[in-house]
Amino acid sequence: MTFPATVSAGAGAEGSRPTGRPGAGELLDLLRARTHGGAAGTPVTHVERVPARPGTVADWPEWVPAELRAALAGQGVVAPWRHQAEAAGHAYAGRHVVVATGTASGKSLAYQLPALATLLADPRATALYLAPTKALAADQLRSVATLDLDGVRPACYDGDTPRAERDWIRAHSRFVLTNPDMLHHGILPGHAKWSAFLRRLAFVVVDECHTYRGVFGSHVAHVLRRLRRQAARYPGTPRSVPGQRGATGGPGSTPDGPVFVLASATSGDPAAAAERLTGLPVTAVTEDTAPRGGLTFALWEPPLLPPSQSDGPTPAALAEPLPAGAGLDATPARPMLGDGLDATPARSTPSDGLDAAPARSMLGDGLDATPARLTPSDGLDAAPVRLARGDGLDAAPVRRSALRETADLLSDTVAAGVRTLAFVRSRRGAEVIATTARRSLDEAVPGLGARVAAYRSGYLREERRSLEQALLGGDLLGLASTSALELGVDLVGLDAVLICGYPGTRASLWQQAGRAGRSGREALAVLVARDDPLDTYLVHHPAALFGRPVEATVLDPANPYVLGPQLCCAAAESPLTPADLELFGEGAKEAVEALVAAGALRHRPTGWYWRHSGRPEVDLRGTGGAPVDVVESSTGRLLGTVDPASSHFQVHPGAVYLHQGVSYVVDALDLDDGCALVHAEEPDWSTHPRDVTSLSVVSVRSYLDAGPVGMFLGEVDVTSQVVSYQRRRLASGEVLATLPLDLPARELRTVAVWFTVSPESLAAAGVEAAEMPGALHAAEHAAIGLLPLVATCDRWDIGGLSTANHPDTEAPTVFVYDGHPGGAGFAERAYRAASEWLSATRDAIAECGCEAGCPSCVQSPKCGNGNYPLAKPEAVRVLDVVLDNLARVAPAQPAGT
Ligand SMILES: [Zn+2]
Ligand SMILES: [Zn+2]
Repeated sequence: MTFPATVSAGAGAEGSRPTGRPGAGELLDLLRARTHGGAAGTPVTHVERVPARPGTVADWPEWVPAELRAALAGQGVVAPWRHQAEAAGHAYAGRHVVVATGTASGKSLAYQLPALATLLADPRATALYLAPTKALAADQLRSVATLDLDGVRPACYDGDTPRAERDWIRAHSRFVLTNPDMLHHGILPGHAKWSAFLRRLAFVVVDECHTYRGVFGSHVAHVLRRLRRQAARYPGTPRSVPGQRGATGGPGSTPDGPVFVLASATSGDPAAAAERLTGLPVTAVTEDTAPRGGLTFALWEPPLLPPSQSDGPTPAALAEPLPAGAGLDATPARPMLGDGLDATPARSTPSDGLDAAPARSMLGDGLDATPARLTPSDGLDAAPVRLARGDGLDAAPVRRSALRETADLLSDTVAAGVRTLAFVRSRRGAEVIATTARRSLDEAVPGLGARVAAYRSGYLREERRSLEQALLGGDLLGLASTSALELGVDLVGLDAVLICGYPGTRASLWQQAGRAGRSGREALAVLVARDDPLDTYLVHHPAALFGRPVEATVLDPANPYVLGPQLCCAAAESPLTPADLELFGEGAKEAVEALVAAGALRHRPTGWYWRHSGRPEVDLRGTGGAPVDVVESSTGRLLGTVDPASSHFQVHPGAVYLHQGVSYVVDALDLDDGCALVHAEEPDWSTHPRDVTSLSVVSVRSYLDAGPVGMFLGEVDVTSQVVSYQRRRLASGEVLATLPLDLPARELRTVAVWFTVSPESLAAAGVEAAEMPGALHAAEHAAIGLLPLVATCDRWDIGGLSTANHPDTEAPTVFVYDGHPGGAGFAERAYRAASEWLSATRDAIAECGCEAGCPSCVQSPKCGNGNYPLAKPEAVRVLDVVLDNLARVAPAQPAGT
């Protein structure tokens, strides 16, 4: 690493508190100069200035009792910001409300005020608080507990709560903090024990509600409906809170049931998302009136590496090899590092001799059967392109990895005495960044490395809080962390935030960047692009990040694969009545009938009953049935679970399975028992499953006829079978062996968006028949990569398939489908925003400087077909034909049939 003397000199001696830290602009100049001082081009593609904003204070609402005001004043809260007072006022008046404002804007006060004021005024009222993580609930508990209010007795009730304390909490706590999983698995099934609490439930707080999206969000929506149902079954004593409910309530006041207060990161149309989540009318408060320091936001694209270099390992890194599984490019073939699965060409590659005509093959890019979900991984740059060299294909240009670049930037900011938080998607990524930065710093100034640490969810809460305190206090200068949700709410006001790879949504980008900035001081945020089409597109199209509102949260409670199981849970809690069906919304009637036909429910005059003695087994995070347990044979230890849909890809016999950085090899996969047996072993190879995928169209929900082009939304059946796997040498990617597997095919009924293009229009646009499969395949890869631009999904939530002639469409077709049974709303978003989505896809390909395709445009880390065939220029022509024709017709309308 080329550590600049100017920077290390400025760092001062270890231990001394640096003085005269550079401002955001100077810091950026310094980083820019350091990295590529004078070399071709600059890594900074855009600089956005976000101006400082003063705060707007409101008076305390008159209903806030003196006791609560005094307690808050004791915590340094002397008056609410206007948005806090506004949201609190709605809730206190009985109107469901969502407050959607920036990081550190004090959303807690918006729900603490009405909930605690009510609890103080009515000594029997209760409140339930839901957080997506235990850590956040623990933070909130601390915040409420320090107010030390009489008779509130706040308590966390989650999987870690000792049995002995649970009875006490049910009987005495009036402010219970938990999570949706505990509500689903513990509280609702045991509602009888909670009757006293539910009877008096005045408020339900849903914190960080934007995290309830996709399939998980759809499940949580029904868990909340089940909560409303049980609360209604225990009729409460009238709540005598002035201003709340009854005649004195506002126009939106609810006749019965708890008031919902939701807190969200800034998101598009938060009222609509909150209404979908709760099934209730919700008022939104979105104007952030908390003060904010100015922010300089830079977009940073790591440079291309010289052709001879696989990556620019720093001298330090060469001297001391990175830990195995660390995920730098030195181990390109690690299967866990990619965005996912090696989805294979559906039909056979030409060399299989089964179907030599490429024009008839379907190229599938399946779901990421993914590592990503297990070890929230992040695509540590193990793009297949790097393997391609071993296959004798032309090497595509490779960029310096975002991890290395972020580690270097962190070293530089820390050396400059700037308190910096670096975000990366995986835990291992956080370790790698911290380790690399520590090493660089120690080389420059021995001992300086000790001021950088990694932060991950595996640590105890106390350890994490002490790391946060060390960073806030300045003893620690750099912290590398995974997602913002794991961090304590107090960890704000930093001088710089580095974001390694686009976090997937603008909402989370702003949430992470929002950790930087204090009043009166300009802070720096840097988004370091990873080598993939979406990141590359974004750093070259800043308007896509800065000129647009954040995304709306996508969830679909009507998904029959979510609704059915949730209705079983509800029926097991208490028999369903016709009125309940209304509560569960669209499709509930049909779903109940199907459950009766399937023998899960029994219809009696008094309602629908759950027929079995045990409870339904429903996992809030999936729709694929019971998860597969991964068990270490020698110890019986449960290492983790794998979604059944991905189990064939991840834990097939012989698979190398990484768990928290430790390597295991699978001995057996028992599909009947839902269990994979593994032993610890670190072989010299990685494993790459190959599958055969086919897709058939079940029904069309909506379509757009654009002459030679058709755009469709509908149900599809995706059948995939993992048929073999390759062992590839870790260092070189060389294929060592291809071994057959004997696993059954799996079916996925889901929702897809697809487009068809007539062969004639493609020919007219200069796409030769021989290039068609490669053109469509390339367009499909890039389209999957860019879908997160329009839908709040991750690349691994989506699969794709392209073919030059699909039997159901009888035309060249590209399918992109939701990777969850019944769909998760992503394909639907893509369909609604088709022009925007596909023109970004087209631009991402056309503007990439590479010649024949690279990971920044059409190559996919998920492609099990070795990214073959791919035809980059022709892919642009395909998309041009599609976009030109779409532009000639009206926007998509739902079809009548
Ligand atoms: Zn490219
Ligand atoms: Zn592919």
